[in-house]
Amino acid sequence: MRTHLTLGRLLGVPIGLNWGVVAVCVLLFWSLANVSLPNVAPAHPTSAYWFAGVVGVIAFMLSLVGHELGHSYVAQRNDVHVVEITLWLFGGVAKLEGEADDPGAEFRIAAAGPLASGVIAVIAGGAAFWLNVSDGNRVLFGLLAWLAAINVVLAVSNLLPAFPLDGGRMLRSFLWRRSHRKAPATRLASMIGQILAVALVVAGLALGFRSSWWTGAWTAALGLFLFTAARAEWSAAQAQPELLSESVATIARQLPEPLHPTASVADLERELTQNPGAPFVPRVDERGEITSVLPREAIRRVPPAHRADVPVRSLDLPLVGLPRVDPNESVADVLARMGQGGQWWAVVVEGGSLTSVVCSEDVETLLEQASV
Ligand SMILES: [Zn+2]
Repeated sequence: MRTHLTLGRLLGVPIGLNWGVVAVCVLLFWSLANVSLPNVAPAHPTSAYWFAGVVGVIAFMLSLVGHELGHSYVAQRNDVHVVEITLWLFGGVAKLEGEADDPGAEFRIAAAGPLASGVIAVIAGGAAFWLNVSDGNRVLFGLLAWLAAINVVLAVSNLLPAFPLDGGRMLRSFLWRRSHRKAPATRLASMIGQILAVALVVAGLALGFRSSWWTGAWTAALGLFLFTAARAEWSAAQAQPELLSESVATIARQLPEPLHPTASVADLERELTQNPGAPFVPRVDERGEITSVLPREAIRRVPPAHRADVPVRSLDLPLVGLPRVDPNESVADVLARMGQGGQWWAVVVEGGSLTSVVCSEDVETLLEQASV
């Protein structure tokens, strides 16, 4: 069974609605129409409270969409694709394809949601203030004040430094920037997330027994949900040292088609544009054997105007002189030989012929997953 239905698209992002949010909407409607509004604006017909209750629930859902669109907008500006936004029990979730690849982008994406909620709170609060001083409609005042308050709650609760909440993501990006390593930062942030989640459950139970069982139950449920999410992130970020004993062939990159001796630097440029991950293009000699490679950075030595006329031969790096690895070597062995931290690549040679290439970025990524 599908867990949610799709409502439509905003900024090119599909917006979905989880069935659980319907329950929240009914509860919000009930508390708004039967408790909050009659308290703030007494002596109005029930139909006015009910109408305002429906408007309030719709405004609440739009607030959730606004929060998530804040994330999505900044994500898209940082080249992170947004697959879908789903509104559900505890708010909204913007499903991103992949993650930001630098801590600054992650921080901005995470902060944008609470910021959007804050902006909605200020607008609603400002309008409520204006209605109050100008003796405007009391029901509308109550509705706007409630909307401002719920957006403040949304912004503040999401700013809890408990990964994977927005505040936890901001905390992770801070730790990540300081250590330059994402996996340990994720482990620490999601550990703090689990501790805060347990604290929320305890606080919820205490609150439930001592004063309001209703607020207590919500707080405890939020804590449980947060614990599950933080625990999942924590497990996913665990060190996997066994990755380092895998053969280097598993992270080797495919090579582009070799170029012929008559090819020009412009041909090389085209080939590299089509293969953005390749550090070089192999070149065959007159007998059809790969004897040299044409590195990406060498293109810069030829001015663009001459690239169609200059033969690629002038950029040759002979295969014999290049660092090479055997496909059966382990990643750990290659790392020990090539060193950590620097930019490098090594050709993979199998049975005397060039088959693929190992790049330092891929080794670093694996090291990141393996790291302890
Ligand atoms: Zn958020």
